Amino acid sequence: MPVTSASRRLDLPIVLRKLSVLRTAEVTPRMRRITLGGEQLGPFSASGFDLPAFTTRGADDYVKLFFPEPGAEPVLPEQHDGHLHWPRKPAPIARAYTIRRFDADAGELDLDFVVHGHGIAGNWARDAKPGDEIHLAGPKVSTIPPEGASWWLLAGDETALPAIGHYLDDARGSSTPLHAFVLVDGPAEEQRELDGVHWVHRRSDADDALVLAEAVRAHSLPDSDGWMWIAGEAGIVRELRAVAKQLGIPKPMLDASGYWRADSGALGRIRALRDRAVESLDHRRHEHVAAAH
Ligand SMILES: Cc1cc2nc3c(=O)[nH]c(=O)nc-3n(C[C@H](O)[C@H](O)[C@H](O)COP(=O)(O)OP(=O)(O)OC[C@H]3O[C@@H](n4cnc5c(N)ncnc54)[C@H](O)[C@@H]3O)c2cc1C
Repeated sequence: MPVTSASRRLDLPIVLRKLSVLRTAEVTPRMRRITLGGEQLGPFSASGFDLPAFTTRGADDYVKLFFPEPGAEPVLPEQHDGHLHWPRKPAPIARAYTIRRFDADAGELDLDFVVHGHGIAGNWARDAKPGDEIHLAGPKVSTIPPEGASWWLLAGDETALPAIGHYLDDARGSSTPLHAFVLVDGPAEEQRELDGVHWVHRRSDADDALVLAEAVRAHSLPDSDGWMWIAGEAGIVRELRAVAKQLGIPKPMLDASGYWRADSGALGRIRALRDRAVESLDHRRHEHVAAAH
């Protein structure tokens, strides 16, 4: 089938919902799955409007979650008919998270959080327990991949994994070859149930973006019309855009999103080095304990 068009965007009605944590699971040491549910996943009425049930159409659809300042109630957008009004002062504290899985029959929504230890969202996920409540809005738009691409190349860091996992789940049984490259800290962060992912490990002596770009570049791809999807830290996305250019992927066949930005200043570098030192110490401790048993 020839490639007919670029990705399509579908607008969805945006709705603010209040949901509860049903259960949590450690997918890997740094990735926590939070399953949300509640009556507001179905149709409901609020602010005088009849609001539709939660809907998601694309594998990288995301919601915005709202968090409070410590000890306060969260500042929320106001629900209007088909759109939200966002207050300015104070503005809501919102973070984007991908829908890893939605099961309308079971009334369950899975979000996978990187527990990175510095932010309001990552820390909320680290501490979340059944019964906790959270407001979320969206998804507002779905991206539907191009039809007829000869292959898909998906690449990013662990924040891209919920979308990549969702793409892999949706593509089961499809004849389109799918190549996925994900940058993670090490073997313990590999999600082994995701078949066919090329796991790329961070290195203490090399830049994350270059390590991932090098792995993608080294992979031979058939010389035909493919589609590339990229997401993750801004520097990684920039480097992978350059790889897409080298591969000759035309702009309409590339979907790229920066999901977060690493601190670029000295503080950020110190934090990153400290985190890696602590992690490698933890790893050595684990090995030591394992060897002792
Ligand atoms: C469309 C979209 C979908 C996304 N989907 C997911 C998802 O499914 N799962 C997911 O985990 N993330 C996802 N993200 C990324 C997530 O929104 C950001 O990582 C967000 O900044 C986390 O918020 P926070 O409050 O924890 O940290 P912030 O308050 O935003 O940042 C605090 C500090 O933490 C650092 N930081 C932020 N994120 C990370 C990280 N991942 N690793 C290391 N340091 C970090 C920042 O550089 C900063 O120094 C998505 C982002 C977008 C735009």
